[in-house]
Amino acid sequence: MIAEVIVDISTSEIDKIFDYVAPPELDLRAGDRVKVPFGRQQTEGFIVKIKENPDTTHALKSVTSKLDDFTPILPEMLELMREMSREYNLRLVDVLRLFIPAMMRGGRIREIKRHFVTLADGVSYEAALSRLKPNAVNQRGVIASLGQGGEWAAILGEEYGFSAVSALAEKGLVKVTEVTKRRRPALRPVEDKRVTLNDEQAAAAREIMHGDKDSYLLFGVTGSGKTEIYLECIEEVLSAGKTAIMLVPEISLTPQMMGRFRARFGDKVAVLHSGLSDGERYDEWLRLLRGDAVIAIGARSAVFAPLRNVGIIIIDEEHDGSYISENNPRYVTSEVAELRRAYNGAKLVVGSATPALETFKKAREGKLGLITLKNRVNGTGMPEICVVDMCAELRGGNNGFLSEELAERLEQTLADGNQSMIFLNRRGFASFMICRKCGHVMKCEDCDVSLTWHKEDNLLKCHYCGKPYAVPNKCPACGETDMRLGRVGTERVIEELHRRFPSARTLRMDKDTTRKKGSYDEILSAFRMGEADILVGTQMIVKGHDFPNVTLVGILDADMSLYYEDYHSAERTYQLVSQMSGRAGRADKAGVVVLQTYSPRHYVFLYAKENDYEGFFRKEINVREVTNFPPFTKIVRVLTMSEDEERALGLTKEMLAKIRAYQKEAPERFVSVSGMKSPVKRIENKYRYQIIMRLTREEESDTLSHVYDIVNAQEKKNATVFVEINPQNMN
Ligand code: ADP
Ligand code: ZN
Repeated sequence: MIAEVIVDISTSEIDKIFDYVAPPELDLRAGDRVKVPFGRQQTEGFIVKIKENPDTTHALKSVTSKLDDFTPILPEMLELMREMSREYNLRLVDVLRLFIPAMMRGGRIREIKRHFVTLADGVSYEAALSRLKPNAVNQRGVIASLGQGGEWAAILGEEYGFSAVSALAEKGLVKVTEVTKRRRPALRPVEDKRVTLNDEQAAAAREIMHGDKDSYLLFGVTGSGKTEIYLECIEEVLSAGKTAIMLVPEISLTPQMMGRFRARFGDKVAVLHSGLSDGERYDEWLRLLRGDAVIAIGARSAVFAPLRNVGIIIIDEEHDGSYISENNPRYVTSEVAELRRAYNGAKLVVGSATPALETFKKAREGKLGLITLKNRVNGTGMPEICVVDMCAELRGGNNGFLSEELAERLEQTLADGNQSMIFLNRRGFASFMICRKCGHVMKCEDCDVSLTWHKEDNLLKCHYCGKPYAVPNKCPACGETDMRLGRVGTERVIEELHRRFPSARTLRMDKDTTRKKGSYDEILSAFRMGEADILVGTQMIVKGHDFPNVTLVGILDADMSLYYEDYHSAERTYQLVSQMSGRAGRADKAGVVVLQTYSPRHYVFLYAKENDYEGFFRKEINVREVTNFPPFTKIVRVLTMSEDEERALGLTKEMLAKIRAYQKEAPERFVSVSGMKSPVKRIENKYRYQIIMRLTREEESDTLSHVYDIVNAQEKKNATVFVEINPQNMN
């Protein structure tokens, strides 16, 4: 037999399949990891196929050994590997690596197997002793310590020597069994509050499981009972003997959230997230592979959970940016989920209060079933949203961070003994330029996205077409000279709070205060325990936390994400505002949101205020269509990185010329093509240059594969080139 092997070599460009002889005694299968001779050394590799005959007449080398005592890559995953490699232009080996815990490679982690010693079957304590000589002190000692139960071989060996144990085993007096010790992530136990689904929820669960669509969008605000519907569907899937995958943004994988699933399904749940130790991660993964656990809960990468016979895949908060991988290998979680859904004939459910525009569009076109939950389970309404015009505040003489409205409400909330959250909208590296008087924002004339200030050459640039603009010394709209680069830090907000409310207790959550492992959870639980009155934070405080005493939410600089140089910015801002609002007034207390902005009449805020996602959708989808942005086009970025700037630039120029030539041949396939320095010029000592193109939707996959061909044909020594589709950010 012949094994087709993909060698696991990190540095090389090699992504070829090699034939090796498969020695029968190794009993090899497709999906096994093996050691093979490669060049002058031994290398790890993956078997992707077993076949009768080689494709070549050359003498073949043999597989040296098998690395695991199980087959880590399921047949489904081999299929997925081929599809992902084609779709995202990835090396096969990079895809395969996604399917196993990283530490398995290079044998850096194993199952902990321990030997447990008991009396052999049918041998009594007395009988065993009677067969041993009085001077066999160590062996008698072993028997004596076995007593009724048994003991770990390691402990016996330390006390009496391993030879005593093996001598007893040879005589048939004791039995040694191998036991796997599982490293289990500790989870706070949560009581399983079994609720009876209300009519809306029950109908939703029924539709998902028995409706005529394969995939559904569950569209409902936070607190509308989506998680209970997921639990119900999973239960049904399990009782049909199938398995389930539940994906949640990393940041929402709180102990409470995981605890809810543990409480309902116990040991059938395996969790996969970045907080686990390598050992825990490996063991949880193995429990899934072996079928000991049948539900995988985790962040993005759990979409690769080694489960067979998947009955349902759920993606909660589907609009979340964390579902798109921004490091190599780049993939889109929902697309991978769809491939697995189709392979298994399973159901796919994506849930959100603020679906991605593209998802909602698909639902409206009937490509996804649309299930809408109109009400919150506990009957509380959505909080009131007050939009405050910061330009007016400024004209009125207030040039601090807090509007009068927010300051008054903070004071009242403090007096009432309730809690407040202040969210500082500060995304990415970008700084846009805004007039403090009229709120005018500098935008690209061609692309209608905000310009970003570049420090190194003091220019404003458009990140879509690369066009540079001089920094204006006065506002082109009103003539005011107080133009500012939007950016405020959490410390400065805390300072201002302390000045105005000296007795208020504050907590701060941002990149700086959460650097230490566990500090994120510490801050949140301190706030939940009421150790502070006001929590000030960035993006991190937005998601999925339930703080029953929060009645006031302040959103500072709501514009920041609005004028982020990105066509998504309105969508992102809508999502942020409605998620932040979801934090105010849970349970029995009414909530208020104060939203500060320099553009109070922007449609995002008008719709957000009315909690009208569908209205927002209709407006925004229209904007996208008119301006030729996704989902009506596809944005493709070819990113080239190298430590050698000339090299990165040279490569980019060569590829750009070829792509431009192709554009000339088939102009109808392109909206635009441009090349520029990446907004963030150097990351980790590598210079970054990029080509950005917008493809029209017709025959777009054909266009894309042509672009892949151009990139793949390029000789790429000393540089790395990635092709990304609809990148989340342009850094
Ligand atoms: P979502 O996932 O949409 O935010 P959840 O499923 O978490 O909503 O529900 C919000 C809260 O309401 C939870 O505490 C949940 O236990 C409770 N809940 C959900 N459905 C019901 C129900 N039918 N009866 C009683 N309580 C419910
Ligand atoms: Zn532009």
